Amino acid sequence: MPSIVFRGLGVIDENGDVVGDSIKVEDDKIRGVSKSKYSKLVEVDGYILPAFIDAHLHLVGIGASLYGIDLSKVKSIEEMGRRMAKSVRRIVFARGWNQEALEEKRFPTRHDLDKYVPDRPAIAVRVCGHAAVVNTTALRAFRIPMKYRRFVDMENGWLFEDAVYYVVNKIMRRLSVINLVRLAVKALREAGIAGVGSMACSSEQIEALKKLDFDRELPIYVSCYVHKDLAYRTVHYLGYRFSIEGVKLFADGSLGARTAFLREPYSDDPGNRGKKLLSSRDIEAIAREVIFRKKLRIAIHAIGDAALDEVIDVLEKLDPQHMARVEHASIAHDSQIDKLARLLVYVVIQPRFRLSDWWIDKRLGDRARLAYRFKTMADKDVRLAVSSDAPVERFEPWETFRAAIGDCGGRPCEYGESLDPRTVIRLYTIGAAKATGLLTRHMGSLTPGSVAVLSYTPSDPLSHKWKGPLRPLYGF
Ligand SMILES: [Zn+2]
Repeated sequence: MPSIVFRGLGVIDENGDVVGDSIKVEDDKIRGVSKSKYSKLVEVDGYILPAFIDAHLHLVGIGASLYGIDLSKVKSIEEMGRRMAKSVRRIVFARGWNQEALEEKRFPTRHDLDKYVPDRPAIAVRVCGHAAVVNTTALRAFRIPMKYRRFVDMENGWLFEDAVYYVVNKIMRRLSVINLVRLAVKALREAGIAGVGSMACSSEQIEALKKLDFDRELPIYVSCYVHKDLAYRTVHYLGYRFSIEGVKLFADGSLGARTAFLREPYSDDPGNRGKKLLSSRDIEAIAREVIFRKKLRIAIHAIGDAALDEVIDVLEKLDPQHMARVEHASIAHDSQIDKLARLLVYVVIQPRFRLSDWWIDKRLGDRARLAYRFKTMADKDVRLAVSSDAPVERFEPWETFRAAIGDCGGRPCEYGESLDPRTVIRLYTIGAAKATGLLTRHMGSLTPGSVAVLSYTPSDPLSHKWKGPLRPLYGF
C-alpha cells in the first residue's frame, strides 16, 4: 500500500500539541508520526493540522453571499461598470464596492450603470449589504413595493436597508439552491475547512447535497440539522460525505432584535423580556416523539438566559442527553454552566459574536458580563465546539480564532473569557467533530486510524499572532 509522509515546520494535533514534524498517511488513514518507510515524501511549507470543522453555519446563505461579480477590489466607477458589462447573465448581480476605495469617492448612480449595462437589470450591492445601486432597467423591472419606497432614491437609483433585502431576495429566489451550495462548499474548502454542520437545512438544500454527494462533487463533509418544519419527515441519512444528523429548534430570537428571551427585561427596553419561541414542554414533545426515536440529534438555539432555562429543563428530563447540543448559550449564569457541564450537552459557541455585538452593554447593562463565557465554560468542562455562524459572521478560521483568543478588532475583548490557542484548536477539530456527528467518520483527530483530512498554515497557529491562512492539504 503506497504511503505518504508529510513533513512541515511542525505537526499540531487536535489537542494543540506539537507532536513532531512529520505525519504518515496510508490508505487515506493517519498512520502516526513515524518516519519509517514511505513511498512518497511531501515537504510542506508550514504547520500541519487536522482540518478544521465549523460546527454551525448556513451553506445556502454563504453561497448567496458569494454569488455575483466581486467588486471588492475595483478602484473606479468605470472599472466597476466594465466588469458588470462583461456578465453573461440575464440579471447582472455584483457586490462588494466601497466608495472610499473608488477614485471618484462617491456612490455610483443609476446613470453610471446605464452607460455600461443599458439593456438588462443590474444591481451592485455595497460592501456592507445595507446599500445598493441599480440601473434604470432594474428600477423598472424589480417593482419595489410602496412600503419600501422610503428606502429608495429614484433619481440616483440607490436602495437602502429593506429595499436592498427585497431586491436581493427576489434575485436569489431565481437561483438554484444547488449552485449556491456548490459556491459555498468550494469557498469553505479553500479556507481549510473540511467539515461543517449546516443548520436549519431546507428540503431543497438536502436534495442538492444528496445529489452533489452522489455525483462525488462534494469537496467537504457536511452534516445537516434540518429545519424544525421537517422534523416529522426526517430520518437519519448517511451518504459518502453528506449526512443528516439532527433537527434544529429555536427556543428564542436574537439580542440584536431584542427577541432573545431574558429572565429580566432588556436594559434599553423596560417591560420587554424578548420572545419565548418554544417552551420546555414543546421541545420535550418534539424530542421524545421524533428525534430520539429516529436516532437524530437535537440542536436548540438559545441566546437569552430564560431560553437557556427552558432548554436545561428539558435536557434534565431526557435520556440520552449526549445527543443534544445547545447553539449559542450566549448569556449564561454560573448555575446554568454547571448544569450544562453535568448534562454532557454540547455547547456550540461563536467567538466573533463578541466583536459584532458591540452594543451589548446597552441591551443588558450589568448582565453583559454574563455574555460569551467561553473560558468559564471550558474551565468547567462543558463540551464545547467552535463555529462561525457564517454568513452572519465570516467563516475564515483565523478570524474566529482571533476573536476566541481575545482580539476584538485590534482591542482586547472586554470581560476576559478568552481561550488559549491550544483550546481553540481542540474546539475547532475534535470538539466540533463530536458536536456535528463527524466523529463517527473518524474526523477531527490525528490519532492513528483516523481519516486523513489535513490542512496547513504558513505561520505558527500557537503564537497568539496567527493570521492564517489555513489551506487544504490532504483528504478534502
Ligand atoms: Zn445560525
